[in-house]
Amino acid sequence: MTSRTLTHYVGHYLNLVHLWGNKIFIDGTCGDDGVNDTPITKGFNYICPLYDSASVSSCTPGVVENVQNFMEYSYCSRMFTHGQVQRMKDCLQSSVANRNQLALFKVTSIKNTANDVALWVAPNPFKDKVHASGLQEGIYSAEVFNVVGQKIISIPSFKTSGKVMEFDLSSVTNKGVYFLLITDKKNRQNQIKLVKE
Ligand SMILES: [Zn+2]
Repeated sequence: MTSRTLTHYVGHYLNLVHLWGNKIFIDGTCGDDGVNDTPITKGFNYICPLYDSASVSSCTPGVVENVQNFMEYSYCSRMFTHGQVQRMKDCLQSSVANRNQLALFKVTSIKNTANDVALWVAPNPFKDKVHASGLQEGIYSAEVFNVVGQKIISIPSFKTSGKVMEFDLSSVTNKGVYFLLITDKKNRQNQIKLVKE
């Protein structure tokens, strides 16, 4: 006998409603959760009504309702359907409530080749501008990421003549840790941790 309460609430958190629809409690009416592969149901809240196939086919005759679903109230929870899984995955791609920022930053997008490009940055911690030195003459791109991997500044292309470069980071308003990633034309990179004070 399992209820799997945490699994049920993770389902809610990832945009699943109860199988009987968007009502909190079971009220005896049949409802739909908007997921194609979960049958219409009125919902069940007793131990596990599987033994009584007539009672679990109350909304669509001949279709056994999915009492074993985590989004049911019965105590025999053991599954999400494929449709529910897809709905949860879609939720994690959505900008609603920043759900699409829950997934970990793709660290692989930054090659771990730290010092391919010579680079020093000062001041660090910084207030609004930093000066980068050490870059050879050439064309580079620069990006600034926050600690959860959101790109907050992107400079697609800039040219240096081997002198000190100034980066205006005044659009960075929150204190904390950031990463400046510099990439040259041969895709060599350097990543420097910056602290905004
Ligand atoms: Zn619930």
